[in-house]
Amino acid sequence: MSNDINDFAIATLGSHTALQILKGAKEEGIKAIAICTKETRKPYDSFGVADEIIEIDSFENFFEIEKILMEKNAIVIPHGSFVSYLGPQKIKDNLKAMHYGSKGILIWESDRSMERVWLQDAGLNLPRIYQTPEEIDGPVIIKFHGAKGGFGYFIANSTQEFYERIKKFKDPDDYVIQEYIVGVPMYVHYFQSALTGELEIMSFDKRYESNADSIGRIAAKDQLDAGIQTSYTITGNIPIVVRESMLPMFFKIGEDVVAASKKLEGAPKGLYGPFCLEGIIDPNLNFRVFEISARIVAGTNPYTNGSPYTWLKYNEPMSTGRRVAREIKTAIQSGRLQDILG
Ligand code: AMP
Repeated sequence: MSNDINDFAIATLGSHTALQILKGAKEEGIKAIAICTKETRKPYDSFGVADEIIEIDSFENFFEIEKILMEKNAIVIPHGSFVSYLGPQKIKDNLKAMHYGSKGILIWESDRSMERVWLQDAGLNLPRIYQTPEEIDGPVIIKFHGAKGGFGYFIANSTQEFYERIKKFKDPDDYVIQEYIVGVPMYVHYFQSALTGELEIMSFDKRYESNADSIGRIAAKDQLDAGIQTSYTITGNIPIVVRESMLPMFFKIGEDVVAASKKLEGAPKGLYGPFCLEGIIDPNLNFRVFEISARIVAGTNPYTNGSPYTWLKYNEPMSTGRRVAREIKTAIQSGRLQDILG
């Protein structure tokens, strides 16, 4: 296989974190290909991040153009929309183009029960899961499987309240009852290098969720009078710099999650590349993790020019998208591409 980056390209679906992935590829001197639909191509044209745009009718039709990508030696970068439109099982079974990152890990992260086994094994502090509504003895959040962007979640404080609120939902079997953690949301963005074995902290964010982030703008009495139901629909991401004394803990849990991933079935290389731990920090500074994303997350989008942390390490603008491209470039040039493909 060639050691020349000019023989390769980086490709991704035009959505989610594609702007920084494509810009990062260009910054590292690798050809950037965006796969868009007619309706979604505008930002990728306007911001000038792609060397080439391939149009498809819908993202689900990705496999129709896979051959073109393979002819161009394109390395596909999975992101949230990519995994959601194609599905982790199809990515694992059908994707023939070069894929950055472990496909097996995408299966683990996409299933709430499987990811819980993994995170528990890593020793993380997870919110309690209630097996039955009868066990509810404090605030809980009810999450529906496949709920896009947290839409439709609800909070209950007792068994009775649970049954009252669940009535509204058509398919009420498909949910999990999780302890509701009172604290502040925190999303930690990591990069695990498969080439050096080093874990890097890239940045932090919190989400800007509708209507959860606006309910506090009206008085409690008005909230009750208006019968407002909390929802967690993601609309954007807000950068955070954490209290510095928490950084050792964030490094440790990141390393523990990577170490535990090496034992996961169907994912021989374990977790590498960008990933994110998502949780709530309670007033005693416990980080209660409710989810992992084992690929680049949209919370890295505020940092197209790098974060305060990547500035410390790199002394040049380093988005997570660019960090991925740099890893790919280093792998190509050192003849280690196989080490980062999954
Ligand atoms: P998720 O779909 O699991 O990423 O959750 C969507 C949003 O719900 C998060 O961004 C949090 O604001 C909130 N949330 C999820 N799980 C919990 C929890 N256990 N305790 C408190 N808030 C939560």
